[in-house]
Amino acid sequence: MSSTEKSKYTFLESVDVYFNKAAASLKIDESLLAQIKTCNSVYKMQFPVKVGKRIEVIEAYRVQHSHHKLPCKGGIRYSSKVNQDEVMALASLMTYKCAIVDVPFGGAKGGVKISPSQYNVAQLERITRRYTSELIKKNFIGPGIDVPAPDYGTGAREMSWILDTYQVFKASTDMIDAYGCVTGKPVGQGGIRGRTEATGLGIFYGTKEAVSNAADMKALGLTTGLEGKKVVVQGLGNVGYWAAKFFQEEGAIIVGIAEYHGAIYNKNGMDVDDVRKHINVTGSILDYPKAKNLSKRKDALTMDCDILIPAALEQQITEKNAPEIKAKIIAEGANGPTTPEAEEILLKKGVMVLPDLFLNAGGVTVSYFEWLKNLSHVRFGRMDKRFMSSSNTEMVNLVEEMTGRNLTAVQRKNLKKMEGPSEQDLVYSGLEETMITAYHDIHSVWKKNKKITDLRTAAFHVAIDKVASSYKTLGIFP
Ligand code: GLU
Repeated sequence: MSSTEKSKYTFLESVDVYFNKAAASLKIDESLLAQIKTCNSVYKMQFPVKVGKRIEVIEAYRVQHSHHKLPCKGGIRYSSKVNQDEVMALASLMTYKCAIVDVPFGGAKGGVKISPSQYNVAQLERITRRYTSELIKKNFIGPGIDVPAPDYGTGAREMSWILDTYQVFKASTDMIDAYGCVTGKPVGQGGIRGRTEATGLGIFYGTKEAVSNAADMKALGLTTGLEGKKVVVQGLGNVGYWAAKFFQEEGAIIVGIAEYHGAIYNKNGMDVDDVRKHINVTGSILDYPKAKNLSKRKDALTMDCDILIPAALEQQITEKNAPEIKAKIIAEGANGPTTPEAEEILLKKGVMVLPDLFLNAGGVTVSYFEWLKNLSHVRFGRMDKRFMSSSNTEMVNLVEEMTGRNLTAVQRKNLKKMEGPSEQDLVYSGLEETMITAYHDIHSVWKKNKKITDLRTAAFHVAIDKVASSYKTLGIFP
């Protein structure tokens, strides 16, 4: 086995370790397990892009882990650390993630080995468009083939360049559904309200459900509910920021935040938006006036708190820092933040790990809603909002007439649903329902199966079982 400096396993090997542990609790033929585990297609590309006066040869990937359902789905990462092992691991996680939340896609992931801050906007656009052309050339993108989305280092802007490039190339053949070739687009270009905050919101809904279980919280020595819980967040990018914001709105206390330049801590809590403002103005999280600097960025992980949200990159919680971790709950916002060695230590300490493949599935869930919107060519809520509003109003009027009592203006206003749901209402409630249902699925497997000692194994168990049933319909596997 090859190793990294943080674990004896590479990222991909660590996904295999978790997979094998869960597979042992299932009765599935070895050949089928091998098929599920493997990455079906790995496309490594190198392409030239003009950067200033130089021509740079850029290394990039798209990996389709599983074709058991199509299209394949998964984000595109821009980072100087991108490598084939990482993209394969992330693509594999996407398959299991989609299965857990019942999103009918196979897993995929893309990566471009660049550090986005080293390029200006025009150069980033050129790289993104060239990458998209490579995908088109090899038939690795399309609404029914493979649908990218944002990931670390990319966002709505990159997705709109991908869409535009796709439309240019596919104008004659695929125009009607072209908007479904990529998700996470700006709302004005076929995106959906709620996608930007979706991963953070999913982390919030998933954790909120987990902490509502009185028996589980008692075992951890915690009370139920998020209110008053001390939270540390690693990474204040899109995922970490939105998760922290929703936790804060629910009454949790954000006591620590780690970012690229360092980490800050205040046991009485900090306002996430104020910290973000400070970063935008000064360019660094350090020296935030209402908190103290920690000497090392990674010290944030071991600070006193109830819930730790790693929301940056993989392999952050390792056998080195796991013994020092004080959190009772690890809410994995990032993909693969915990190494297998660290997980063993955490489980022995009785820490509850809410695993990435469940907890950060909010992004792909809302991507699925966006894709459905693109293929149906209509905004959610458009057809029924007004109808619901008038029939609800009529109903309230009737009740008032029959009871002889009138609702106050405030009561009427509070009956928000009387107006009928907006697209955002539907996205939020669809996501909440998805996260709660998925949590109960994995929780009941965890509690009912004696061989399964933790939520990650339960999540893999549920995912492998679903993917296996889908493959079995092919009639190839026993
Ligand atoms: N990149 C996100 C993830 O890791 C979202 C993927 C998607 O929406 O397709 O889950």
